Order: sequence, then structure tokens, then C-alpha cells
Amino acid sequence: MTLALSRPTARLGAAVALSCRECGTRTEVGPQYACPECFGPLEVAYEWTLRGEELRREIESGPENIWRYAALLPVPADVAATPNMNPGRTKLVRADNLARELGMGNLWVKDDSGNPTHSFKDRVVAVALAAARELGFQVLACPSTGNLANAVAAAAARAGIRSVVFVPRTLEQQKILTTAAYGGTLVAVDGSYDDINRLAGQIAAEREDWAFVNVNVRPFYAEGSKTLGYEVAEQLGWRLPRQVVIPVASGAQLTKVDKGFRELVELGLVDDASYSVFGAQATGCSPVSTAFKQGWDTVRPVKADTIAKSLAIGNPADGPYVLDTVNRTGGAVEDVSDDEVVDGIRLLARTEGIFAETAGGVTVSVLRKLLAAGRLDPDADTVLFNTGDGLKTLDAIAGSVGPSATIPPTLEAFEATGLAG
Ligand SMILES: *Cc1c(COP(=O)(O)O)cnc(C)c1O
Ligand SMILES: [Zn+2]
Repeated sequence: MTLALSRPTARLGAAVALSCRECGTRTEVGPQYACPECFGPLEVAYEWTLRGEELRREIESGPENIWRYAALLPVPADVAATPNMNPGRTKLVRADNLARELGMGNLWVKDDSGNPTHSFKDRVVAVALAAARELGFQVLACPSTGNLANAVAAAAARAGIRSVVFVPRTLEQQKILTTAAYGGTLVAVDGSYDDINRLAGQIAAEREDWAFVNVNVRPFYAEGSKTLGYEVAEQLGWRLPRQVVIPVASGAQLTKVDKGFRELVELGLVDDASYSVFGAQATGCSPVSTAFKQGWDTVRPVKADTIAKSLAIGNPADGPYVLDTVNRTGGAVEDVSDDEVVDGIRLLARTEGIFAETAGGVTVSVLRKLLAAGRLDPDADTVLFNTGDGLKTLDAIAGSVGPSATIPPTLEAFEATGLAG
């Protein structure tokens, strides 16, 4: 696992170690991702250099992107000056129409489709790229369920380095074509994401100068998701929401939003108020939801079959940690059918003018299902995460929406439709 590269000592901000999530063993900050003692996953540990008011001022005077939180990320101090996609600072939309429809009080949508390649993956890739460069990697690579492919290919293009991206052959056309347009090497694989993830691990072991963002530089990649938590808290006026609903693929995003919230408390930027984290999956790939409902503390891999392809990870690396987070915070994990995914996309679009991809449809419908089951408090401040753009998953709704009428260009024809109102 430890790569025998001669690299400069990493200057990765306040990061001081990589710490095993299973046994707590600490190793130096470097291109490691598995614990030398137990092979458990490693996570970045910090010694904060700024806190409280001083940190808040630093953040508030920073750039309008994730680098305003650079002091809390494993990146070099000059990260904002190197060519990158500058993701983040996406809108936190007050969703009063959707709240009314669902019988809720205060609801917001954190709309991460506003990122440069239209999904939250630009955040994690930006942090992975910054760390990978510092650690001496030459190529940016990934196995992807689609959005990561877009983000890696675009970020590598801007940074002027090579990218190699592996995706399931059956991925949505929109995600394949957009990735190809950014250039780089795109390999379509006849297999599931889980097959491709295994392949990526094998390639990473052979190609020591390739940074597979979500494999061998995963500890750094995962930290990028904390910025979603930081932004939500800052956009609410430096406070934590009471409830968040987050889609789950590998589970990294959900666990890191929680980590981000806890850091803000520790750093004195928000009050230590209790919050609950809810996870959302599609029934056709719901290993974490199943484990939650069964009360298991491990996740049994499944074979994925759902239109929510961006969430189709049957063997989620962070699944057990999602269970920990959800159980610790009094949340839940729920899943919805593909029909409900489409209903969720349409509901968000017609109430708030936000056109989500299938992952967003999953999250909206899980919110509705949790409310109906009484598991989520309709009166508590709630943030729903929309992590991707519906223009990338048009096939999902192609069969259920369309024009109100198709007519020749005459006044009579229009009046005959009865649509004039
Ligand atoms: C990748 C992805 C997720 C989930 O990310 P994990 O961190 O792997 O759980 C959610 N939504 C969209 C749109 C994604 O592309
Ligand atoms: Zn360990």
C-alpha cells in the first residue's frame, strides 16, 4: 500500500497525519489509503492553526468557492492560485413551495448542481487534485458512476494533466459524451461500478504515479465533501440545521458532511446544537438502507439495479460509517423505488424550479417517505441535498413528461386545445 516514490514532504495545510478509522493507528501524511496495521481506511487528521473569530474572518474574506475553507482542508496554502475548477459556494435555496407541499416548516435545498460540471463531485476532485499534485502524482484517474468522470476529466483538462477515467458501458449517454468532450482517456467497461472499482485498485497497484481520486488518494478526496457541510452552516448564518437528508452511494459524502459539522463545533464557529443525518438510497441499490433497517453494523454487498446510476454502488466503502453517523445522530436511512425517484425529480422541478438528476429524485422522495413515517420532524429546520443536474439523466423522465399539445402554427389549432385557460 505504501508507495516507494521519492516525493517532497507534503505541505498539506493543517493535515498532520492519516489516522485509521478502525484502530486509530496514525501514519504520516502521504499517498497511503489503508492502515499499515489492520488495512482499515485512513482519514486525514489535523492540528488546527486557526480557530473561532480569527478563523471566521479568514473564511469570510476568502474566495467565493471552496478555497475559503482551505485552512480546514488537506491542501497547500497557495491552492487557489493553481489552475483548478474553483467549485463550491452553490446556492442554498429556501424551498417554501416544496415545504408547503410536504407539510413542513423550514426547508432548504442545497443545490450542488450549480458546480462547474454540475454535481458535488467537483468539490472532492478539487481537493484530491490539489493533494495529488503535492504528493507527486502525474495522472488523475478514477472509476466512476458518472459524475466523478465529468469532474475528473474537466479538472485534469484545466490543470493541464492527463486523466484516465473508467465508467460502466451502460452509463447515461449525457455523462459519457460530456466526459469525452473534456478530453483525456475514457474507458467504457463491460461491468458494474463495483467491477470497475476492483479493476481500478489493481491498476493503481501497478501505476504508482496515477492518483485514482477515490481509491489511492481517497483520504484527501473524501475531505472535499466537508465543504458542503461548512457552506450550509455558513449560509444559515453560522448555525447547524436540525436535519439533513443526503444521498448515499459510497457513503463518503454523508459521513464527511457530519465530520464538517463536528469540526465547526470544535472550532467554535457554530453552537453545539444537536442535528440528525438522514441517508437516501434507491431500492434497486440499497445495501446501507437494508443494513440500517435490519440493525446490522456491517453492510452486505448487493448487485445494483436502479435508474439512479450515480448512486449504484453495491459495495459501499463507507457504508458502515454511514450507519455509525445515522445511529449516533438519531437519523435514519431509507430507500425509494425507481418510480418514486421520477416522482421526486418532478416534484422538486415543479415546486422549486430545480431540475435534479436521479440522485436528487431519490433524496426528495426519501424525505417525503421519512415524513410520512414520522421519522423526520416536519417543524425542524431541514436541508435537502441536491447533488446533481437533471440534464444528465434525461432518460429517467423521458417517458413521463412532454408537451401539453403538439399543434400546427395556427390560432385555431391552439384554441382547439383548450390550453388558453
Ligand atoms: C457520487 C454521487 C453521490 C454520492 O456520493 P458518495 O460520497 O459516494 O456517497 C451523490 N449524488 C451524486 C449526484 C453523485 O454523483
Ligand atoms: Zn488500523
